[in-house]
Amino acid sequence: MSDSWKIETKTVQCGYNPANGEPRVTPICQSTTYKYDNAQSVADWFDLKAPGHIYTRLTNPTVSVFEAKMAKLEKGVAAIATSSGQTANMLAILNVAPSGSHVVASSALYGGTFNLFKHTMKQMNIDFTFVRPDAPIEEIAAAVRPNTKAIFGETLANPVLSVLDFDKFSAVAKKNGIPFIVDNTFPTPYLCNPFDFGVDIVTHSSTKYIDGHATSVGGVIVEKGGFDWSNGKFPMFTEPDESYHGLVYTKQFASHPYIARLLAVWIRDLGTPMAPFNAFLSNMGLETLHLRMERHSSNALKLAEYLKNHPKVSWVNYPFLPDSPEYERAKKYLRGGSGVLSFGIKGGAKAGEKVMNALKLAAIVVHVADVRTCVLHPASMTHRQLNDEELKAAGVAPDLIRVSVGIEHIDDIIADFEQAMAQI
Ligand SMILES: *Cc1c(COP(=O)(O)O)cnc(C)c1O
Repeated sequence: MSDSWKIETKTVQCGYNPANGEPRVTPICQSTTYKYDNAQSVADWFDLKAPGHIYTRLTNPTVSVFEAKMAKLEKGVAAIATSSGQTANMLAILNVAPSGSHVVASSALYGGTFNLFKHTMKQMNIDFTFVRPDAPIEEIAAAVRPNTKAIFGETLANPVLSVLDFDKFSAVAKKNGIPFIVDNTFPTPYLCNPFDFGVDIVTHSSTKYIDGHATSVGGVIVEKGGFDWSNGKFPMFTEPDESYHGLVYTKQFASHPYIARLLAVWIRDLGTPMAPFNAFLSNMGLETLHLRMERHSSNALKLAEYLKNHPKVSWVNYPFLPDSPEYERAKKYLRGGSGVLSFGIKGGAKAGEKVMNALKLAAIVVHVADVRTCVLHPASMTHRQLNDEELKAAGVAPDLIRVSVGIEHIDDIIADFEQAMAQI
């Protein structure tokens, strides 16, 4: 039944079905361990033959509720929650790309992901080729090597806000028999379901809109199901796993071999699960996801339109502005633009800093995607060591102000920007 529900019902109802007399709200199972009646039950779990919990480094009832709901929201077959979004993206790649392999990624990525891929995973002997998101398909296809194991992109890139060309990237992945992995953090499953557009694996930083209240760092990986792992490129799923005395993931877990291995190997060995309390808060965040994302999107569009018409503003970047180069793709793939926009002030970095300091409702915060409106000025904050020339090379305009538009009343948000801009 739950598969036919609308997403607004799934966010509230999926993942938890209390039995007679059990708590109505998902309990926080703050327990590392579980009790068994006999040794055989434990043996069966260790052989991955029986469902149930044995140790919270692997699974936990509260975390499982959150994972089950995320799988439903993304219309996938299974999900794993992780300690952070960084971990989600790292494990999503490690699960298909052993040492000595290669991945093609869009260059429009969150800075932390770019660093992880370019520098840290390089130390694990995994090579990345970065292609421009607007590169012609021939160029993306030419970046694929015999040892390429995945194509990676972000639905709505943080912070440049470009919309991923799913059709183009997925065509290259399909042609080469490799999974297309997409970070869907900014849109969330409410604004975009990447599995509808040729994606095989979805990742999230649940730290952002999924939690939505800036309380819990976390990540999620979701498997669509149905990918053909038996094409010779992914023996880790089709050949016996020595670390599980000969288990073959595509046999024992035919519906979700990718997630089964991700748990059995990577979460087990690296020890990076989501904590139960974070799962509780993230799950509670999901219950209002549809309401929040609708309001974040409509508020951001209104603020973008207001800024666009302001005489002291030189440019505005928001994918749902009709004159945005991203507009057509945004309409094709997204049900709304999410809450993040960026803009530039005439007068550059100095003027930008002044406006930011004058804002009262919008706080200066190094974060995005929670209910409170906040702003960041990279040139005077995260990138302050760089001169104008270097800022340009890093893709950060000196006057760029990033706004994460919250769910307050739009009139109050606009009034705050109005009074701040009156001071320059
Ligand atoms: C924040 C972010 C991440 C990293 O997530 P953390 O939870 O901070 O580790 C990854 N991808 C995107 C798009 C993000 O915005």
